Amino acid sequence: MGGGTGAGGQRGKKERAARILRLFDEHCPDAAISLDFSGPLQLLVATVLSAQCTDVRVNQVTPALFARYRTAGDYAAADPETLMDEIRSTGFFRNKAKNIIAAASQIDTRFGGEVPGRMEDLVSLAGVGRKTANVILGNAFDVPGLVVDTHVKRVSRRLGLTENTDPVKIEFDLMELFPRPRWTLLSHQMIAHGRTVCKAPKPSCGECFFDGALCPSRRKYL
Ligand code: SF4
Repeated sequence: MGGGTGAGGQRGKKERAARILRLFDEHCPDAAISLDFSGPLQLLVATVLSAQCTDVRVNQVTPALFARYRTAGDYAAADPETLMDEIRSTGFFRNKAKNIIAAASQIDTRFGGEVPGRMEDLVSLAGVGRKTANVILGNAFDVPGLVVDTHVKRVSRRLGLTENTDPVKIEFDLMELFPRPRWTLLSHQMIAHGRTVCKAPKPSCGECFFDGALCPSRRKYL
């Protein structure tokens, strides 16, 4: 609990969080990941590619990639130049190719070729931070994970659920406020809301289902 917030403040925040959750469920019960994948390895690769890139673009690139590379060993043995060419249109392709090959080698040698299903193992892989690990846990292993991407960061700050700017601190703030089984779906709901309504730089508060009692930012933008 942050200094100055006090028990009452945190309790009030938790009650507001519960009402926010109910409205998300009412208005976007089916929010889901928009990356196409089958299994943890494909999701890991797609998530690495999605950094600074739209999911639509990633989904255009991955079918050919997934057909060519089927195992962690396949990626580990990839020719870096070829892989760079194959993922070039997703941007930052040098770094992404380097990380995919390095992570795949680690999966191959340290985890018997299977993507591990635990946070501490996932974040030990090249290029995998808590955000990517939570995407994989929540969507490929059914282990609840709060994914703090740019949308979740913006929406949760505007909703007054956190004052932090560091994604890991925001993740832990949200973990305090929302029940664990809901973390994965809530991430998708916040991402969908951030893409369609609570947009950067200017949110469409007039179209939003959170009123002034639930969103302290609403009056700033209306
Ligand atoms: S009221 Fe406005 S700022 Fe608040 S969540 Fe909705 S769109 Fe975002």
